[in-house]
Amino acid sequence: MTGNSLDRHMPLYAQRTAGMRASAVRSLFAVANRPEVVSLAGGMPYLQSLPLESVAAEAAQLIAQDGLTALQYGSGQGILELREQICQVMALEGITAHPDDVTVTVGSQMALDLVTRIFCDPGDVILAEAPSYVGALTTFASYQAKVVHIEMDSDGLIPSAVSAAIESVRAAGGRIKFLYTIPNFHNPAGVTMSDARRQELAKICREANIPILEDNPYGLLGFDDKIRRSIRADDAENVIYLGSFSKTFAPGLRVGWVLAPHAVREKLVLANESATLNPPVFNQMMVSRYLANFDWQSQVKAYRHTYAERRDAMIQALETHMPEGTTWTNPEGGFFVWVTLPEGFDTAAMLPRAVTARVAYVPGTAFYADGLGSRQMRLSFCFPTPERIVEGIRRLATVLDNELDV
Ligand code: PMP
Repeated sequence: MTGNSLDRHMPLYAQRTAGMRASAVRSLFAVANRPEVVSLAGGMPYLQSLPLESVAAEAAQLIAQDGLTALQYGSGQGILELREQICQVMALEGITAHPDDVTVTVGSQMALDLVTRIFCDPGDVILAEAPSYVGALTTFASYQAKVVHIEMDSDGLIPSAVSAAIESVRAAGGRIKFLYTIPNFHNPAGVTMSDARRQELAKICREANIPILEDNPYGLLGFDDKIRRSIRADDAENVIYLGSFSKTFAPGLRVGWVLAPHAVREKLVLANESATLNPPVFNQMMVSRYLANFDWQSQVKAYRHTYAERRDAMIQALETHMPEGTTWTNPEGGFFVWVTLPEGFDTAAMLPRAVTARVAYVPGTAFYADGLGSRQMRLSFCFPTPERIVEGIRRLATVLDNELDV
């Protein structure tokens, strides 16, 4: 059978599969991972700085000492010890929480899926930043929810635009289920929401009875070593908070979590059980040991230092090489820079030519549910070395020059 052969099961698929599209990022991975290509596309953490030998010793000890628990089925909510530690991690962002309100998930991606599953019927509306995280958009689409994008500026979501969107969606009879936001070091936009905006947003959503889904995988990766106060810290009733160990420890373990008001948490555990029975116990215990036995905050500090150096290399290279009229964000943390090219460029159409020139990025259209973003692209600085980043931007500039000549 080839990929082109007729799909005999086509008439049998559920309608929701129509909303399932291959992520632009995923289909890029194969080419972007070739060694000759400088990939500014993927958002892979730079794990090279992890103390792998100590992590290996910890894994061996886990099996030797607690193997019968670590390799057994477990709780659908996640192990208690880890949930307690998660509460301590969140305390760094000003959050007071009880471990019983935390549900451990298979990465925060699973948490996005579970939250959408329990809130959204087909046609329901989710408010999200313009642009927004591609993995969230594909999840929302798989539940046939409709995304309404809301404008941001360098301080994050614009409150008046949020109010206007709520009003116009409701006037048209739309049912808004939640507002999805990434307040820190946004993926892909690279901006951070100001404190004043966080408070304003919380107030608007509370008054409109729209829960906020606060997605915060990058919160501890601020290059100024400051930890921003989370929206959830000041609103325990109306905010559902998502966290992850993917960026502070290791994405391969797939350990994330949701902190939700108690009634929502009950539904989340049921949804988690029906999806996975329980999050992997071995992986949770590995994270728990890592938090207990390693100086993990120093490790996060080392990550911050590495990424800050790479951000600097990228911003400087953009200043040197980009054509006039190009703009970009200058992130205070995280992994991503969002670039807007002058009128006339089409980043999706240009991508194959960029890959031929041995540089890859993610076209802006991947981050919109409505086809916008054609002059934009996401560049990530987390994985390549500073030298490779500079080389990648140089190659990109050559591609842009050639486009202008076409
Ligand atoms: N949310 C955002 C904004 C992300 O950037 C990512 C990872 N790219 C995720 C959620 C998912 O992270 P994970 O499932 O690895 O915790």
